Amino acid sequence: TGTYETPAALAFRGGSWSEKRAFAATGILVRHPKGNLLIDTGFGRNVERQLTLLPSLQQSPHHLGTPIIDRLAKADADAITAIIPTHAHWDHISGVDDFHGLPVMVNDAGQRFIDSHGEGTEVLNSFHGVTYRTYHFDGGSYLGFPSSHDVYSDGSVVIVPAPGHTPDSVVVFVNLPSGKRYAFVGDLVWQMEGLTRPAEKPWMMRFLIGEDRSEIRTAIARIRAATKLYPQITAVPAHDGRAFSSIAIYPASTR
Ligand SMILES: [Zn+2]
Repeated sequence: TGTYETPAALAFRGGSWSEKRAFAATGILVRHPKGNLLIDTGFGRNVERQLTLLPSLQQSPHHLGTPIIDRLAKADADAITAIIPTHAHWDHISGVDDFHGLPVMVNDAGQRFIDSHGEGTEVLNSFHGVTYRTYHFDGGSYLGFPSSHDVYSDGSVVIVPAPGHTPDSVVVFVNLPSGKRYAFVGDLVWQMEGLTRPAEKPWMMRFLIGEDRSEIRTAIARIRAATKLYPQITAVPAHDGRAFSSIAIYPASTR
């Protein structure tokens, strides 16, 4: 749905100032017999107006693509039953506004974070009439994470808590019938290097966002362990376009 520009030095520890990284902002459509799901939404139709709600420092130069609502075929759009944000930040929920009435799935910590009008929830809280569907981490441990929520009770889409970037951050595991598996890690790390080196975000960004460093390190270690144990899992940081390379672009004819 678009990109915004960030120097690599601000994307992961050890990144260079001269190298620019185009941060992807997008969403994932999961087709499921019991109802489609959207994991994050990327930029929606009203992103320009939404950006004015943010502190000027956060209003990065960006490039707009096509919002998800304008790309989806009607059948796929009509079959969406819920949106699962990896967390409540603007670049992940901007498009929620375009899917009026569609439930937004949040965990208890997420609901508290949104209701507290904490920093980073300005855009989501500016939307009128959002329907939240609260879920609980009622399942057992999952790939090293202490608890989980199995959305359709069939193991296909499993959400685990991964706070640290924000109190409501989650990792969404999607397990396809083919055996291929994905871990959508949201903003746990911004670029692949965050997991592969591993390299957390630069301290200045962690400080500005108010991240919990030890929670982030724990979750990074869990994802690294899970992908080592199960090489069929691809971990996808929300803003690294390279991480999406094995996922079909929707619709197939566009990029
Ligand atoms: Zn983000």
